[in-house]
Amino acid sequence: MELNERADIDTSQIEDGRGSGGGGGGIGGLPIGGGGLAGIVVTLVIALVGGYFGINTMGGDGGGSSSGTPLSACTGEQKLQQLECRNALYVTSIQDYWQDALPQSFGEQYKPAVTHIFANRVSTGCGAADSGVGPFYCPADDKVYIDLSFYQVLAKQLGAPGEFAQPYVLAHEYGHHVQDVLGTEAEMRRRQERDPSSQNEESVKLELQADCYAGAWAHSAANTTDKDGDKIFTSLTDQDIQEGIQTAGQIGDDTLQKRGGGDVNPEEFTHGSSAQRQQWFRVGYDSGDPKQCDTFKAGAVS
Ligand SMILES: [Zn+2]
Repeated sequence: MELNERADIDTSQIEDGRGSGGGGGGIGGLPIGGGGLAGIVVTLVIALVGGYFGINTMGGDGGGSSSGTPLSACTGEQKLQQLECRNALYVTSIQDYWQDALPQSFGEQYKPAVTHIFANRVSTGCGAADSGVGPFYCPADDKVYIDLSFYQVLAKQLGAPGEFAQPYVLAHEYGHHVQDVLGTEAEMRRRQERDPSSQNEESVKLELQADCYAGAWAHSAANTTDKDGDKIFTSLTDQDIQEGIQTAGQIGDDTLQKRGGGDVNPEEFTHGSSAQRQQWFRVGYDSGDPKQCDTFKAGAVS
């Protein structure tokens, strides 16, 4: 995978909250101190969001640096060496894709959503969160939240070291934004409220659809451009796609349950098994058609 040096990094699609929320003080009125309280905060966000990535990295080395490279440096010669700038380009690519794909596939106008980079802790429209929850989308403020140190967790602890894991993660989260725009997410919540016993099953379908949307983006990623029409990727290979599929395989609920030392318990799945996550990424990738991502159709997910 190569990014185009000439592609403009649109930093209006990304905001940098590092250094503003990482201290030991309270966030959103909640005093945050010891690990016990952090656990409560994590649970709170998961309950409200549902669009998180399915990984609880509490107890891992998820602690990010609180500064990193400022986004204002994403104009210089070395920009493509910087994690932040590369991620800003991935976001541009994903949103460029949906700008066309959403009206084409669903007759709906796409509404751009900002990615908020944080370190350690963040206050969101969905409540306070810390890095332990992994990246997530908050429908209340229409933002994707990510602590970039998550990629180290993916690489070092979860066995997904490929660079393409990064845009896959972001494309999955933007998949949740698309579900928000289309009302899919709200409909799912209503079904969950009517039938609480369906909660996990509904969540799995929502998550697999986000994986499928990520695959649909990957199918067309090589054609995405910045606002001047310059391509964002100069090369995207089968190996990159394999890295995406590999990532999906490393974060399935069964794989994570095993990694956590427990038994595999499908009733506790919220994101789908590794095989399902790979399968639905492939459905999106092979077809390049987000309409094929109807995981809610009867019998689509068993
Ligand atoms: Zn998700």
